[in-house]
Amino acid sequence: MIAKIKQLLEEVETLKASNAEELEALRIKYLSKKGAINDLMADFRNVAADQKKEVGMRLNELKTKAQERINALKEAFDSQDSGSCDLDLTRSAYPVDLGTRHPLSIVKNEIIDIFGRLGFSIAEGPEIEDDWHVFSALNFAEDHPARDMQDTFFIEAHPDIILRTHTSSVQSRVMEVSQPPIRIICPGRVYRNEAISYRAHCFFHQVEALYIDKDVSFTDLKQVLLLFAKEMFGADTKIRLRPSYFPFTEPSAEMDISCNICGGKGCPFCKHTGWVEILGCGMVDPNVLESNGIDSKVYSGYALGMGIERITNLKYQVKDLRMFSENDTRFLKQFEAAN
Ligand SMILES: [Zn+2]
Repeated sequence: MIAKIKQLLEEVETLKASNAEELEALRIKYLSKKGAINDLMADFRNVAADQKKEVGMRLNELKTKAQERINALKEAFDSQDSGSCDLDLTRSAYPVDLGTRHPLSIVKNEIIDIFGRLGFSIAEGPEIEDDWHVFSALNFAEDHPARDMQDTFFIEAHPDIILRTHTSSVQSRVMEVSQPPIRIICPGRVYRNEAISYRAHCFFHQVEALYIDKDVSFTDLKQVLLLFAKEMFGADTKIRLRPSYFPFTEPSAEMDISCNICGGKGCPFCKHTGWVEILGCGMVDPNVLESNGIDSKVYSGYALGMGIERITNLKYQVKDLRMFSENDTRFLKQFEAAN
């Protein structure tokens, strides 16, 4: 009997199982009611009285060791299981951090929406342009300062190829391939060789509008300008036009709106004048129509253009232009509500 117990003790101390089924088979073999250890327990009553004490102790030791060994193997399996899959599938997911629309995109879309309701469709053109579409077709004289190297990015090997300095280049591209009525807006990025500071950048964004048809007059232009200002800055907004000069329009004007920050009373933003400048406009110069194959005796039109950064500054009082291109999410997040 004692020899049998010793043999089983050796066996259980070296038990191995490579999966849960094998482990269960071992438990049945040694520890179940019909297992080897219970068989020995059943034989215990046949043990001689003087050996009962020692056999009893050894039997208990065997049973404890067998239980311990099987428990240890089970624990090893359990920790292996959780090691291969340490995901807690019941935990709630990390919140997904959604991006927000860029303030310039928000304002650009608002402008597009206002002009869209007036029947203007969107036209786009290349940012890398030729001199003709950016300057010549728009009535810029050969010696116009805007062509100067100081303002325009030229490509050294091809001085005729430039980064467009305004979105008006899209107007000439549309005019050369279509006949009036033309009613388009051209949103896009433009480039100028300027030192980067809080109030200037080497690239910025514009939206231009162009309307060409028979009998288009300055009155039509003023009406659209007033409507745009009221839609963009509120129904109380007033506008005023100051005479100006642009090569591609004649007459030309710059438009101010009553300062939307102080309501026209005067504040540091409007330099205490009550007015802030927001865009340039005018009647399309007949030379421009002719350059682009449109009969200036039959058709007339107006054009207007504005900087999207300028409008965004007015709406949100962003004091440093550079913030628009720094991609600082702390800045961009502030416009979440406007999305
Ligand atoms: Zn003001």
